[in-house]
Amino acid sequence: MIKISEVANSVQPSLTRKLFNMAKEYDNVIDFTLGDPDIPTADGIKAAACAAIHENKTRYSQNAGVLSLREAISNYNKVKEGLHYEADSEIIVTVGAMEGLYLSLLALIDEGDEVIIPAPYYVNYVQMVNMCHGKPIVVENHEDPLRISIDAIKAALTSRTKLILLNTPSNPTGKVVTANELNEIALIAKEKDIMVVTDEVYKCLIYNGIRPQSIASLPDMKERVIYINSMSKEFCMTGWRLGYVMGPKEIIAAMTKLQENVVACAPLPSQYAAIEAMRTDVDYSANMAMIFARRRDVLVDEFRKITKLHCLPPESTFYAMVDISKTGMKSEEFAYELLKAVQVAVVPGVTYGKMCDNYVRLAFTLNEDKIIEGIRRIGKFADSL
Ligand code: PMP
Repeated sequence: MIKISEVANSVQPSLTRKLFNMAKEYDNVIDFTLGDPDIPTADGIKAAACAAIHENKTRYSQNAGVLSLREAISNYNKVKEGLHYEADSEIIVTVGAMEGLYLSLLALIDEGDEVIIPAPYYVNYVQMVNMCHGKPIVVENHEDPLRISIDAIKAALTSRTKLILLNTPSNPTGKVVTANELNEIALIAKEKDIMVVTDEVYKCLIYNGIRPQSIASLPDMKERVIYINSMSKEFCMTGWRLGYVMGPKEIIAAMTKLQENVVACAPLPSQYAAIEAMRTDVDYSANMAMIFARRRDVLVDEFRKITKLHCLPPESTFYAMVDISKTGMKSEEFAYELLKAVQVAVVPGVTYGKMCDNYVRLAFTLNEDKIIEGIRRIGKFADSL
């Protein structure tokens, strides 16, 4: 009898995927579940990948990624973020931010080490920490469930705390961690001698025009921060599976060793596409930012017409949290009933933390017509309750 490992058995399929799969069983469904931009990758980026393939750049690269891409990433972050990382020692190219996150955790966590995950949180974090034999410590905010709580983070610290896993802007809330909160987290990290892994894959989608500062840029923080980003959202390249991590060279070296044994390297044609995407003289993300800003306004306006629901305008990302408390339903029941009644799929908030059970999450990675029709159906459902 084959025995599946405890780690594999402990991994739970997410409610996001569950609703996505359930949605597939209906015709004419409007699916707000997955955050996968529907906008095609820009032609210039696609052309760079095609050229690489025609030039037979189709083999393995260095484990950390081709140096010219690491140089492009280093330059892009210097120019756009004011972050300074050496291409040859402080950057690794990964298979999406997901593998970057996983390798970061694998490089840092020993069995039983605690990882503080402020809620609401990206679902995969908890599973990844478990996969690395660490202990996920989810920290809820009981006063303001959609914001992280610095006091709760402080209360959760123990002698086993290894790192804080930060996601700003946040999936699922679309909120940005404030400069004050970042300063507080930096102080905690320095005082307690712990690391911060910061997942900033959504900083490309900011609706007030002010690109948020990274905790990596705060004084004395570069040595304790692992910075994660990706081509997926910024350049509508989810399927190219290309991300990167910047951090202290010992950690990047450890991750590079681990990477050799997991995927060897990120796909080479995708790496050449990313070199083009990272050019600082062409803005390949402007179009997608404009489209999502418009969709966000449409979404917020449409929800204003529904008295029983309240949509919180996201500051960033293509996710919106909708308050369903006036319907008297909790988030899972609401999502299942909504799908059954009007064929609209959303994600139950409880997926992102116990305190989010009065919310559902919508990813507005659909065109405006579908967004309007989807929200019309949601309104019909809410009015019928
Ligand atoms: N971090 C967050 C917060 C995300 O929402 C996602 C994707 N949904 C990722 C990381 C993974 O992105 P990638 O496609 O680069 O692996």
